[in-house]
Amino acid sequence: MILEAEPGKVYVDRDTGEPLEVVGKLVPVAPSQSKLPWTPETLRFCPWCQQLSQIDLNDCPTCGRRMGPPDQ
Ligand SMILES: [Zn+2]
Repeated sequence: MILEAEPGKVYVDRDTGEPLEVVGKLVPVAPSQSKLPWTPETLRFCPWCQQLSQIDLNDCPTCGRRMGPPDQ
């Protein structure tokens, strides 16, 4: 899940009521040619554990399972 967050605020999952854990920060892509790899275009969700990982990885860094080719 991707949402806007303010520092110090606690966000709760709408479905489960569980507090959300920040797993990554997204940065704006335009207008600068940022060198930072963490943009929405370079991330995807692991189909097994639903955690964000980099899109070019074959194995999930969180659960270690094979994610297969990215959806494009
Ligand atoms: Zn995973």
